[in-house]
Amino acid sequence: MKRLQAYRYELRPNSEQQRQMRRFAGSCRFVYNKALALQKERYEQGEKKLGYAGLCKELTAWRNSAETPWLKDAPVHPLQQALKDLERAYANFFARRAAFPRFKKKGQSDSFRYPDPKQIKLDQGNSRIFLPKLGWLRYRNSREVLGTVKNVTVSQSAGKWFVSIQTEREVEPPLPKGGAVGIDMGVVRFATLSDGTVYAPLNSFRRHETALRKAQQAMSRKVKFSNNWKKAKARVQRIHSRIGNARRDYLHKATATISKNHAVVFVEDLQVRNMSRSAAGTTDQPSKNVRSKSGLNKAILDQGWFEFRRQLDYKLAWNGGHLIAVLPQNTSRTCPCCGHVSAENRQTQARFECVVCGFEENADLVGALNVLRAGHARLACEVSGAVMPPAAGTHRSDSGAARCRA
Ligand SMILES: [Zn+2]
Repeated sequence: MKRLQAYRYELRPNSEQQRQMRRFAGSCRFVYNKALALQKERYEQGEKKLGYAGLCKELTAWRNSAETPWLKDAPVHPLQQALKDLERAYANFFARRAAFPRFKKKGQSDSFRYPDPKQIKLDQGNSRIFLPKLGWLRYRNSREVLGTVKNVTVSQSAGKWFVSIQTEREVEPPLPKGGAVGIDMGVVRFATLSDGTVYAPLNSFRRHETALRKAQQAMSRKVKFSNNWKKAKARVQRIHSRIGNARRDYLHKATATISKNHAVVFVEDLQVRNMSRSAAGTTDQPSKNVRSKSGLNKAILDQGWFEFRRQLDYKLAWNGGHLIAVLPQNTSRTCPCCGHVSAENRQTQARFECVVCGFEENADLVGALNVLRAGHARLACEVSGAVMPPAAGTHRSDSGAARCRA
């Protein structure tokens, strides 16, 4: 079984290398924006969109043009990768996965990618990596890179430079350990497992929110582009990156533990994207409870449920397990003991009490137990051959699950 994995390290560039990396990232951004402008112009004039090969021809012309001679100083492959990125942005737009591609701004995800492993040398013993036109770069070697290098991305975040090394390697098909578990996602408890394990809410954003707001206010009071403004801006970026780090760390730890100890994980198919849609509603249909809804939306985005599921999906696959989404019908209102379905079972947000048999439990744990039950029902349905929905890690609900729930 082939496994793709990325390893990320902080770079320790010298000042010349820092200057070069800023320049290369700028050149890639320039090429991306110029190509996007060109495509827009062609569209307005009724011409066909250029493909990747056509854009590469344009790139050669730009590199040889007297107007932008500095483009020649940047390595050519990363510039071409910027065109590939634009192609992907268009493809995502046409597939309705993303909004129309936008122009890139300086300082927003500054990065560039080397796609050719032949031009990259990794010297782990000396904690250094060789990249075209940058030479040997030192990095903070925190763990060993496994597998053969496929490509390398250099990026900047909050004033620091990072390298992400994508590798591929052959691994033994893993045997999953452990049984099945259901997970209920919530705001008060980030995740509750049907075995009783509870993951506390992340709320990293809220904790840093005050600091962030103050830093942003301080920045807005400064004269734009002055030295003090730049200092204030760096502070805002530092807080942003601290929030991101805390969140990433938490999610990775949680998903690693869950995927190592379970062969099958059932989650509710909540469609995080739909839930976190504008709280205000549309002009035709203004939302009724903007306040509570925007609170929930914030919590969803804040806690990274989507990222949590994405990580669970690929980590379970690494360990030979599966992530399976089930429809969230009545998971919060069904009694796991007698099966009675009623909204009255849920007296408060936190407490579940069955009005028929008197079963009492934490509402999130009840949700997790019901997700587990629904998951088992769906699997039983698939085995009997009634329906064959996609097997593993689907993020989509399907009619098969609905029929099984009956
Ligand atoms: Zn009951």
